[in-house]
Amino acid sequence: TQIMSRGLPKQKPIEGVKQVIVVASGKGGVGKSTTAVNLALALAANDSSKAIGLLDVDVYGPSIPKMMNLKGNPELSQSNLMRPLLNYGIACMSMGFLIEETAPVVWRGLMVMSAIEKLLRQVDWGQLDYLIVDMPPGTGDVQLSVSQNIPISGAVIVSTPQDIALMDAHKGAEMFRKVHVPVLGLVQNMSVFQCPKCKHKTHIFGADGARKLARTLGLDVLGDIPLHLNIREASDTGQPIVFSQPESDEVSYISRYVFFF
Ligand code: ADP
Repeated sequence: TQIMSRGLPKQKPIEGVKQVIVVASGKGGVGKSTTAVNLALALAANDSSKAIGLLDVDVYGPSIPKMMNLKGNPELSQSNLMRPLLNYGIACMSMGFLIEETAPVVWRGLMVMSAIEKLLRQVDWGQLDYLIVDMPPGTGDVQLSVSQNIPISGAVIVSTPQDIALMDAHKGAEMFRKVHVPVLGLVQNMSVFQCPKCKHKTHIFGADGARKLARTLGLDVLGDIPLHLNIREASDTGQPIVFSQPESDEVSYISRYVFFF
């Protein structure tokens, strides 16, 4: 439809930001935030001259503060814009910095939209080469609103190989196509678990589902990440694996994304 087409007057770049990459998923819990964080770190590690930001618009369940080991209230600039918090060389902004960690937020539709507006327009990023946006899961108002408000260079869709996650990832890919956001490809996460003792490999969520979906949709597979304790522990302790264990096997899977930009 008209409203959804690219380059409408409503669509305005974020000041100072060259390229926006959104990381999306159909379902929650598939590793979208983990991917967003590690993608930001991999981009920074790949080329230290690039300035990278990470914006968490998953207002319902912001995980960037914990994963990036950040908390606190952003300072305001002279022009009353929020200054991102910085860790591991990445400028970060999240709803999690603006509300108490344990405060139950009962979001109404309008509140969600004003929170998104604030996160998109009231942050002083300085100059960024890439802004990685951690979207909420699904294909609802927030995803549409972000896609319609700012020009997006591309979307990365994360899915496990499980049927139900794939179905939702498929919907996600279709949504981005409708709003004319190029889908850069799929990341298959949690594809295989290798027992650390006997080395036996188990495909807990199925084997090649995301690969098959990518083929069906004519998309690239950007990465295929195993289910690994180190990845979970690294995320939970705020020491993302690309930063804390750059030599690990898991990181070689994750770092592959950067070659697509
Ligand atoms: P989402 O953003 O899709 O809700 P998260 O990135 O928050 O998902 O991941 C959900 C949980 O799974 C987190 O605890 C995270 O550390 C863990 N996790 C994600 N990917 C992996 C992986 N490949 N191996 C092990 N744990 C993972």
